[in-house]
This record gives sequence, C-alpha cells and structure tokens, in this order.
Amino acid sequence: MADYRAMWKDLGMNLEAHDMLLDFLGKYYADTFLTQNERPEGMDYFNFVMSEVHGLRIKELMDQKAVGRKVIGAYCVFVPEELVLAVDATLVGLCAGADYALDQVEQYLPRNTCALIKSAFGFKLGGVCPYLEATDLVVGENTCDGKKKAFESLGGLIDNLYVMDLPQVKSEQGRALLKAEYIRFKEQIEELTGVTITAEKLKESIAVVNAKRGALHRLAKLRGADPAPISGLDALLANQIAFFDDPVRFTASVNTICDELEKRVADKVGVFPQGTPRILISGCPMAVPNWKLPAIIESCGGVIVGEESCIGERGCRNLVSTAAESVDELIDGIVDRYFKVDCAVFTPNRERVEHIEEMFQGSNADGVIHYGLQFCQPYLMEAMDVEKKLEDSDIPVLRVETDYGQEDVGQLKTRVEAFVEQLRP
Ligand code: SF4
Ligand code: SF4
Repeated sequence: MADYRAMWKDLGMNLEAHDMLLDFLGKYYADTFLTQNERPEGMDYFNFVMSEVHGLRIKELMDQKAVGRKVIGAYCVFVPEELVLAVDATLVGLCAGADYALDQVEQYLPRNTCALIKSAFGFKLGGVCPYLEATDLVVGENTCDGKKKAFESLGGLIDNLYVMDLPQVKSEQGRALLKAEYIRFKEQIEELTGVTITAEKLKESIAVVNAKRGALHRLAKLRGADPAPISGLDALLANQIAFFDDPVRFTASVNTICDELEKRVADKVGVFPQGTPRILISGCPMAVPNWKLPAIIESCGGVIVGEESCIGERGCRNLVSTAAESVDELIDGIVDRYFKVDCAVFTPNRERVEHIEEMFQGSNADGVIHYGLQFCQPYLMEAMDVEKKLEDSDIPVLRVETDYGQEDVGQLKTRVEAFVEQLRP
C-alpha cells in the first residue's frame, strides 16, 4: 500500500491506533478469505478493494472533495443513494463490524447497547475511521430506540450530523412521513452541494443505483445453484463493499464475477461439493469486518447461500421505477421502493417472514440461521416469531445471539456444527 499517513493525519486520525487496526484487519482478512479454496478469479478485485479500503478509496474521495464533490455518510439502508448521486455527491456506509475503544464508548453508551452502535462510537472516539472523518454530512436516523438515543450523543462528538425521522408502521401516514423526510433530505443536500435536483439528473442516478442492485440480484440468484459457485463469505464481502466503493465500478466488478459464476454453474463447478448443507442467514446486518458467524458456518461444513439482511438482500432487493417525468413522481418511486424494506423496527412486520421463506425456496436452502446481535431488541424479539413460523413451515432454524467478541466462538461452533449435521440427508 502506498503511504497515506499524511492524508490520515490531515483527517485528524490517531495514526498509531490506526496502524494497529490495519495490521489486525489485514491478518484477519488473509486468514478468513485468502485461505478459502476455489475462489472465483473475480474476487481479486475485492481483495484489492479491501487492501486499499482505508487508502486508495479514501484518496479518491479526498481528490473528489478537492474539486468540490461532497461525501455523505449513513448508518442505514433507508438513506437513498439515488438522491445523493443526483446532487453529484458520494454516499458511503459508516457501520462497522468490530469493537473499538470500548472503555471510552461506555462513557457515552450503556454497556447493554448493541455492538453495531457501540462500534460507530468506538471508531469515532478511537480516531480510526477515515470514512467518517472524510464526510461533509453524516446521516443518522430514528429507527430502533438504541440508534435514536445514540445519535443524540453522537451529535456531541461530530458537528455535521443530520437525523432522518423514519416511520415505524407501514401505513399511509408512514409512507407520507417517509416521503416528507426524503424531501427534507433532498433540500438539505441541495443546500450542502449547491446543486438542484432535476428530473433528468434523478433518472440518471436511479439508473446507476438500479444497475448496482441489479448486479447484486444477479449474484444472489447464481447462489441458488448446487454446488454453490461462490462461498457465502465472498458473497457477503461483495455486499459489504457495495457500501463504500464507487457504484459504477462496483457494478461492473460484480457483473464480471457473475459472468464467471455463470460458467461455473454450467460446468457444475463449486466452492464446496454438491450436497453441502445450504444455509440462509437472516437477521441483523453484518458490516465489515464482521465475518465471525459466516466463517464459523463455512468452516463447520455448511455453505451460506443467502443473507436476509440489510447488508444483503433486504438492503438491495427491489428497484426504483423510472417510469415518471417529474422530480416529485420520481421521488414517489423512490419512496415506494424503500417503503418495502422490512426492517424489524416496523410493526407489524409480517412481510419479513414471508420474504425469508421466499429466499429459502429461491436459494434452495436447507436451513436458516437467525443472527441476532446481543441487546438488539427489534431483531431478537422478532426472531422468536420468525423461528416459530419457519418451523411451522418445516424449515429448520437455529437462533443465534452473539456480539463482536471472540469469546463465544467455541460455543457457536459446537451449535452450528450440530445444526449443519442435522441438515445432512
Ligand atoms: S436493520 Fe433497520 S435500522 Fe439497520 S440498516 Fe437495516 S433498515 Fe436501517
Ligand atoms: S436495529 Fe438492532 S442491530 Fe440495528 S442498531 Fe438497532 S439495536 Fe443495533
């Protein structure tokens, strides 16, 4: 990697702590990903992205900022990339999948806060996230109670926080709130960038995001083959990288890998033997570098064939309609698409179980592992109902509750191994 230390210093980062983090990440990535067998050649691009995740990509963003392009960061898939691109800005995901500076974090948040929220604070307090430091605007949202209150505290640590109010009920009023909030957000980013969104510009950006989601749908579909042409770890990695790579380059790279996978499917080439127990993961999002449970599953004789998750199918399914002429009608199309996201913060949220069953069938899965982060009330509570309904449909389920720590790896392995064995014919 080139020397980016001057750039990181200018961003106000803690260089010593960041060196240690990168060192840890590099080793963890190599042990988890580079040791896999039969990886598609197209994964070379994603290896490269990961090797430069705090380097070249940040330099690209800084170069763009130098010529006036703004960077907007978000913690939720409800923040519409279509609007961000339409003001010639770049959207990056800020969620992190590792604990950091926990002692400092617990001076701001109670211990029983989910790891996803704690890590957002840890990366800020530890000064180790160049994405966060590069942003011109950070978008938080009122989704779960944890995030709602955490963003009040985060507002004291950063000076560019904007909070989006999101609905919790799929009603007419809920839809109207989402539309009003998207219009308020549009006005905010128009002011930030000095760019007024036109219908033409919005259609172009919708097409870019649709193409990105289309490529991810193509990848998801190919995983329905047996033998699976790509590991769950690699497919998850592509879904994770979707949150910070350039969208057009990312789409082309995913399509390249899909071309390769199509050939593999035709030749019946897979990453694991045909008949390997197939697992669908469902639940909380897994941000980089949260690879703990997927690595356990795929080292215990299973293969992951889908993620019902915001970093996965829940976050990328459904496209925005471009069959409209005015900005307002196009925004209606955006609202329609996002309003279908079945996050557990919605009540009731019956569609989610239906979607899990649909994904189970479409990916030819043998069982579902429900992944809940410790202290995440919405997903842990919903997991009980999901488990019951799936079992009523004769779908085997394992409910897992964990965090970002490594202490429970042994215990998780034992449970996952037993579950995978149960799925063998
Ligand atoms: S799980 Fe809910 S709150 Fe989290 S990213 Fe998804 S939609 Fe947003
Ligand atoms: S929905 Fe759950 S995992 Fe997501 S931020 Fe809230 S508590 Fe954490």
